[in-house]
Parts: sequence; C-alpha cells; structure tokens
Amino acid sequence: MNDRLADPQAAMTAHLNAVLSSQQAAFGRDPYPSASRRREDLRKLKAQLHRYQDVLAEAMSQDFSFRSPAESKMLDVLGSTLEINHALSHLSRWMRPSRRSTELLFLSNSLRVHYQPKGVVGVIVPWNFPVYLTLGPLAAAMAAGNRVMIKMSELTPATNAVMRRMLGEVFPEHQVAVIGEELLDPNAFTALPFNHIVFTGSPAVGRIVMRTAAENLTPVTLELGGKSPAVLLHGASPHDAARRITHGKAANCGQICIAPDYALVPRKQVGEFVSAVKESFAALYGGSVAGNHDYTAVVNERHAARIQALLDDARAKGATVEACAAAGAGRQVPLHVVTGVRPDMRVMKEEIFGPILPVLPYDTLDEAIGLVNAGPRPLALYCFGHDAGQRAQVLQRTHSGGVTINDWGWHVLNHDAPFGGVGNSGMGSYHGEEGFRELSHARTVFKRHRFFPVGLFYPPYGNVVQRLVMKLWLGQGDASLRSNRTADYSPPRPLKGN
Ligand code: NAD
Repeated sequence: MNDRLADPQAAMTAHLNAVLSSQQAAFGRDPYPSASRRREDLRKLKAQLHRYQDVLAEAMSQDFSFRSPAESKMLDVLGSTLEINHALSHLSRWMRPSRRSTELLFLSNSLRVHYQPKGVVGVIVPWNFPVYLTLGPLAAAMAAGNRVMIKMSELTPATNAVMRRMLGEVFPEHQVAVIGEELLDPNAFTALPFNHIVFTGSPAVGRIVMRTAAENLTPVTLELGGKSPAVLLHGASPHDAARRITHGKAANCGQICIAPDYALVPRKQVGEFVSAVKESFAALYGGSVAGNHDYTAVVNERHAARIQALLDDARAKGATVEACAAAGAGRQVPLHVVTGVRPDMRVMKEEIFGPILPVLPYDTLDEAIGLVNAGPRPLALYCFGHDAGQRAQVLQRTHSGGVTINDWGWHVLNHDAPFGGVGNSGMGSYHGEEGFRELSHARTVFKRHRFFPVGLFYPPYGNVVQRLVMKLWLGQGDASLRSNRTADYSPPRPLKGN
C-alpha cells in the first residue's frame, strides 16, 4: 500500500503542500487583483455570509452544545458584516499609492509607497467566535489582494463544515481553502512557508506559532488573550458599571478574549457593586439559566471542568463564591462572582475565559494602577467613571491592546480603528485600514527624474558642492575629540569576576 495513504498525517501534509502550491501558482498568475475584483470578492463573501447566517448559527450552537442564536447573529454575523462593509467603502483609497516627500537633497524626484499583496496568508482561528475570527482576517487578506488558507479549530467541526461549503461555493481552493479538525498536527500548517500568518488564540500557542513561523521568516500577527481589567474609578456609578460588565462577562458565557476578566472596585463600593452584578444578571437572564435561549453554554466538558476547578481553587483558598443564578442541566454555567480574592488563586493567575468575575477592592488609584501593571499587558482595559483626571491617569499609566470607556468591548466592533494586543496579548493588528496595511507589503518606489545632478556626489570626493552640503547638514565635528591614540577608542576591558 502507498505509505502516504497509510499515514493520515503524511497525507494531510501532502494535501496542505498541494493547496499552498496551487495558491502560490494562482498568485503568480494574478499578483495584483484590481480594486473592482477585490470588491467583487468581498461582496460574494458578504452575500454567502447572509445566505448562510441561520445555518452558521445552528452549527455554532451544535459545537457549543448550545449557543445563543441572537449572540451568534449579533457578534459573529453582524461583526463580520461591519468589517466587510468597511473594507468595501474604503478599499480604493487604501490601495492608492501614497505620495511621500523626498529629502531636500533629492528634491527633483518622486517618492511613493505602493501597497502590494503579500501572496498567501495563513489564518488560524480559535473556537470562541469561529465565524467573526475567520471572516475578519479573511476580509482583510482579500482586501489586500491575497490568497488565504484557513485553519479552523478542532472544537468547531460543525461550523468548519458549513464554512468549507459556504466559501467553497464561491471561491476556488486556489483562492480560499478551509482546513478543519481533520488536521491532526497543527504545526504542519504553521510550518508552511506562508507570506504572512494571522493567528488568533492563546498566548501559549502564539509562542509556538511564532517559533515555527520563524523557520521561514514568515511575519506573524498574533491576536492573543489575557486578563482584561475593568476599573471603576472613585465616583463611578456601581450600578451602571455592574450592568455593563455583567453583559460583557455573560455574553458567550464569558468565552470572549476581550471580556472583562476581573473588576477593580473602590473598597467602600464592593458590596453595592456585587449586589448590582447579581441583580443585572437576573434582569438579563432570570433566576436560572437552564434552557435559557439567550445564554450560551461552556464549549466542552474540558472547559467546564476547568471553570469548576477555578471556582474550587478559589473556595479552597478562602474566597467567597456566589452564583448569580441557578445552573442548567448541561453546560449553561451561570456567572459567578468571587470576592475575598488573593493573588495566589488561579482566578487571578490564569485568563478566566468563562463565567467568573473576581472583584478586587482598592483604596487609592495608584494601588489600582499598580495591580493592573503587576500582570502582563492585557488585550483590553475598561475604565468606568466620568472623572477626566482619574481616567487620564489610568490611560497614561497602563498598557493594553485597546480601551473602552464606560462600557466593555465596543472598541473592537468599530472597524475604522486597529484591533490588536500588546506584549503578552499579541502583536500587530488588523481591522479596517490597519488590516489592509498589515497584510500588504509597503513597497517604497523612488523614481529618478531627468534632472537629478547626483553625479556631483560621485567620486572623486571633496568638490565644492559636497563640501557645502556636508557643512550645511553636518556642521563642524568637535576637534578636541580627534586623537591619534587608538587606545582612547579601544573596546572596554572585560569585567573581572569576583
Ligand atoms: P488555542 O491557542 O488553543 O487555539 C487557537 C487555534 O490554534 C486553534 O485553531 C488550534 O487548533 C490552533 N493550534 C493549536 N496548537 C497549534 C500549533 N501548535 N500550531 C498552530 N496552531 C495551533 O486557543 P483557543 O482555546 O481556541 O481560544 C482561546 C484563546 O484565544 C484565549 O486565550 C483567548 O483570549 C484567545 N482569543 C484571542 C482573540 C483575539 O482576537 N485576540 C480572540 C479570540 C480568542
């Protein structure tokens, strides 16, 4: 028997290589699709998304055991639509070469930056928003004129199947290809010599992706996660903040990279804030989440056990854990508020990515800022309150990928601004113009015009024009620093050990 057929991994690697080769060849034949062709592709993408919206919502629900159809439509389908619409409206301007000014010395010439498609982009997708986090990078890559290979998560087989069919109906495999849970070793995908990789997932896997991509010097955009804080400033309304944070923490059952991970609350207001979170949750979802059509389930048993273990660890270390509603029979786990939190608890050491909200008291703003800065740089930061002075302190003295003030998450659904992390939460960005630029090569084109007396700067050196230019641009060196004693500039001696 053929060895490749006997070894599914080898067969898969051969398949990946064949798809990549076909995309590279197609790119070679058509390296710069026109604006109208790109717009046509984006319109096809949007039309398919709208045709398939109900099927996609059903498939995501199947993958999660239950996912709120309204949230699937509002976040995955509407989010992707907004991203595609934004690209359709701005693509012509983004594609236009940008005129730059030459140095004065090069005055008679022209300088432009052309934005060239990179080639084949690899997109790696997590399970939590399998549609938005596929179509967002795909729209950016298509707007930039690239071909795309997509690797979906092994946790979303039903969505993967719909995505493959939805995209396959309008795009040939040499333009857009979907690889799903059949890929047993994801490293085989990352190891391909793509022209760019957009990875969305955990910081731990992001490190592996970057290491593997480095073998081919493939540039990477890493969209990672982390612990995004929500800071209530002194004087903020605990009720308003609680309602908005509760929504951010309960949507998709807290399984959102930009969900508020924990709340920092002025000490005197902790009680009021916790009560308001419980009331807000009850107002949104009722006294029990069992069978609630608006409340999504934890994606699988492994993650449900992980969330339970986080709660058990907090309880065992002395925290108070309060459920905001009764649990359902399946994996519809209601929001839990945790108080009496200590830094050694797992809920403060790991990204929660589920329905748990630790609430930490603070006394001074310096202390709150110190707590934020004690951890790795998060993907998002939320700041509640109307005191401009305190807000400026938080914005200037902390770092995060993005910020929403007086609410959670909405900066991400506005596509005229970059979305990306910083430090442990990622590098590079996409959405809107930044996505187009990230997935294009900015190629500087200098054009010499007929009149350009550069010959004046050729050897033999020392003519009057050269001397004049050097004098005007560089002035005089400090004569006292000149020395014939090379010892003055010898390298420092190595330090002696103890
Ligand atoms: P994950 O890192 O486990 O997996 C993400 C994707 O990477 C999946 O498709 C997975 O199959 C693939 N993968 C796993 N090992 C790989 C390897 N060695 N090489 C290449 N690909 C590999 O993340 P997840 O559990 O799917 O998603 C949750 C994480 O993603 C959280 O940390 C969350 O914060 C983050 N996230 C970030 C964003 C963002 O936009 N910044 C969005 C959603 C989720």
